[in-house]
Parts: sequence; C-alpha cells; structure tokens
Amino acid sequence: MSVSQWPCPTCGDDTEFVQPPCVDGHTEGGAECPEWACADCGTAIVTGDAAVLPAAAAARAA
Ligand SMILES: [Zn+2]
Ligand SMILES: [Zn+2]
Repeated sequence: MSVSQWPCPTCGDDTEFVQPPCVDGHTEGGAECPEWACADCGTAIVTGDAAVLPAAAAARAA
C-alpha cells in the first residue's frame, strides 16, 4: 500500500494519505488507482483533481 503526504482540505494541514485497495477496477489494466484517503479523517481525494495535482507535485519537488 502506498503512503503519501498531501495537504488535506478537511484537516487543513499536511497529512498522510493512504491508498486503499482499489475496488473500482482502476488497477486492472496495470494503471495506478487515483483515489487516496486521508489517514486522519478519511477524506478521499482523486489525484486527477486539478486542485490536488499541483500541490502534490510541489510537495515532491521540495
Ligand atoms: Zn481505484
Ligand atoms: Zn484529513
């Protein structure tokens, strides 16, 4: 299971996001599931969201 640190809109802070086992078939073709859940509050985010991607890219570059 993957873990990543992202700003959670619900917690209002950088929190750990975990990627639960995909139940929607995203990974069937070998692709990565875009769904992540905040380990603190359970808020789900999708990395395809325009609001999330730049923040994630910035966090990785830092
Ligand atoms: Zn999925
Ligand atoms: Zn949260």
